[in-house]
Amino acid sequence: MANVTGLRCRECGHEYEVAPIYTCEWCFGPLEVVYDYDRIRSSISREKIANGPRTIWRYADLLPVDRGNAVDLGAGYTPLVRAERLAAELGLGEVWIKNDTLNPTNSFKDRVTSVALSKALEFGFKTAACASTGNLANSVAAHAARAGLRSFVFIPADLEQGKIVTTAVYGGNVVAIEGNYDDVNRLCAELAGTYKWAFVNVNIRPFYAEGSKTLAFETAEQLGWESPDHVVVPIASGSLLTKIRKGFDELFKVGLLDHAPELRVSGAQATGCSPVATAWLEGSDTIKPVKPKTIAKSLAIGNPADGYFALDAVRQSGGGLAAVTDDEIVEGIRLLARTEGIFAETAGGVTIASLRHLAEQGIVKKDERVVAYITGHGLKTIDAVAPVVGPTATIAPTLDAFHAAFDPSTIDH
Ligand SMILES: [Zn+2]
Repeated sequence: MANVTGLRCRECGHEYEVAPIYTCEWCFGPLEVVYDYDRIRSSISREKIANGPRTIWRYADLLPVDRGNAVDLGAGYTPLVRAERLAAELGLGEVWIKNDTLNPTNSFKDRVTSVALSKALEFGFKTAACASTGNLANSVAAHAARAGLRSFVFIPADLEQGKIVTTAVYGGNVVAIEGNYDDVNRLCAELAGTYKWAFVNVNIRPFYAEGSKTLAFETAEQLGWESPDHVVVPIASGSLLTKIRKGFDELFKVGLLDHAPELRVSGAQATGCSPVATAWLEGSDTIKPVKPKTIAKSLAIGNPADGYFALDAVRQSGGGLAAVTDDEIVEGIRLLARTEGIFAETAGGVTIASLRHLAEQGIVKKDERVVAYITGHGLKTIDAVAPVVGPTATIAPTLDAFHAAFDPSTIDH
């Protein structure tokens, strides 16, 4: 892949050739893909992108895989919708929702998985694997099926049933671990050292993480090749937030944005697992690992791999971080659903409830163009809202019964 020149350590800058590796031999820092931006700039254009596929692969020039090798279930190109009713509720001006519930397995993870498994095929792997809080498991199982790869996905045993069924149906191996995500992750790091598998978020992580940039690319394209003023992004490992920021910067580097983005980046966490938000609120540089306890299981990473980088991106950009309770998460899900007709999973509830906090604190401002990233579908975490929503009334099949339940003077005639 000519646009990629190698891998580089994010801590010490040591460079490596492209390979399924993820940590620096010198300092154990995380590795990142290095691109030849001059070369990309000379070949990429808005027109070329507009003529590309209606998936993340329209941005293949800025991804670390050749489009010809893509494992493509149709990830990406999801709607960016103006949310006027939600904005009014929050006292904000211009709010947009990036609705990533509409991906092939209904979460943004299809973006990273599509890139990771495409790269896994390039490297010649026969088995795909991942550690997952659920959404990634869905996505890896589906894309592995599509690619004809064997798969092993590792999840915490207490995951929502919706996420287990929607993973197991694709026929790969689903391994439920008696422990939390951080336990699952530790086991997977050991397995990755034992078996020659493509562990998408271990040894393929540098490539995998690049897929998240497409959320920035699409947002800019959908705004007429402009950057928003402020983005609000849920934080699990912290990778998504840093990659969205990187995505806007890259667009400017390769000439697709006319102005350098002056983007403020804010993060959203649940109070039951808020190591990054806590560090921000305490003005600390240290992310203290926590034991997660929240209904937002897709964000329940107590020791986030990119937590420091996410915190740094928020600080550098002048954004903020919020942490919200389980009750606020449920209210956030319902608020987005009743104002905009979009049903988000608990992570989406975290994002909307955090947006409310950030707006109340004046961190997200009324004169800003704001994009909130809704990363997974509500049907995946139906248990979270099932106890508080249901039929408005249950009645006998008669007009009288209907009138008894609903005062006719209050209904449109
Ligand atoms: Zn290093």
